[in-house]
Amino acid sequence: MVKLDAMENPYLLPQQLRDEIARAVADGEINRYPDPAAQQLKRSIAEVTRLPSGMEVLLGNGSDEIIQLLALAVAKPGAVLMSVEPSFVMYKMIATFVGMKYVGVPLDKDFSLDLSAMLEAIKSERPALIFLAYPNNPTGNLFDAYSVRKIIEAAPGLVVVDEAYYAFASDSFIPQLGHYDNLLVMRTFSKLGMAGLRLGFLAGSPAWLSQLEKLRLPYNVGVLPQLVAAKLLRHHDVLLAQAENIRQERARMLAELNTVVGVRTYSSEANFILLRVAKATQIFDGLKQRGVLIKNLDGGHPALADCLRVTVGTRQENAQFLSALQDTINQLA
Ligand code: PMP
Repeated sequence: MVKLDAMENPYLLPQQLRDEIARAVADGEINRYPDPAAQQLKRSIAEVTRLPSGMEVLLGNGSDEIIQLLALAVAKPGAVLMSVEPSFVMYKMIATFVGMKYVGVPLDKDFSLDLSAMLEAIKSERPALIFLAYPNNPTGNLFDAYSVRKIIEAAPGLVVVDEAYYAFASDSFIPQLGHYDNLLVMRTFSKLGMAGLRLGFLAGSPAWLSQLEKLRLPYNVGVLPQLVAAKLLRHHDVLLAQAENIRQERARMLAELNTVVGVRTYSSEANFILLRVAKATQIFDGLKQRGVLIKNLDGGHPALADCLRVTVGTRQENAQFLSALQDTINQLA
């Protein structure tokens, strides 16, 4: 299968770097528990992320684990976790698992933030925790930064800007960390070529992170992920160059998709593209029969009726997808 369903980086690492990692792994002391403070890795992260001074990071087994940790930290009967809809489904799922009340504020028709609806909902629901995916998944757009700032200012609790797709986006809230004491920024290395390592982090002030650390299980990031990620971050330029390739492929793919009759695309600042087509489920099935796996969003949320999401792959994978799509559309016509 051509696998374009999970926003993975399609490229392998250069052979020399893979050999370097193999040697580091061979020397890894897996008979020992990992360093619970993960000092070396945290230093590398702070450096490549250019954290404002005084800010620190907390590490998670993927950012999914950090969402869970944040929810656990603020959960109590009646406490509200708020996000927008449609967005990343784990916010709602985790709120439900920890017994919080979930409130999803609808986005506008074009998937932009509805600032007045958000401010209204913040006033009435008093959320303990707000997640805003920046860029948003599955819509791919970056919300208006002014609106995000207004939300941070109005929120009575924590606001987490989830920058899972930072490597493909044109803006970030990392530089804002020092300006708002209720702001935290979450990132993951999953989309940057390390999905299999399971490593995410939360950046913010030590005042917040030291409280959250109390809930983190001490060995949540193993010896090997710590070691490999620290090595890879020393070659951050290689990963960023791959991300740049993906951005260029995204532009090409979007242009080509826009020539396909019957397909409506949405612009993207992430490594995937949202599309709307008639008979989405039949198209999804047709692609699968032709060996291309993407994500069918039809039926998941009313605003995503007839929507499909395709991850940007290698040039060859994208060409295979585009030709399978055209083929399927022709067959269904
Ligand atoms: N946040 C967003 C917006 C995502 O799309 C994803 C992955 N689909 C995650 C967080 C979680 O990523 P991971 O657990 O791999 O770090």
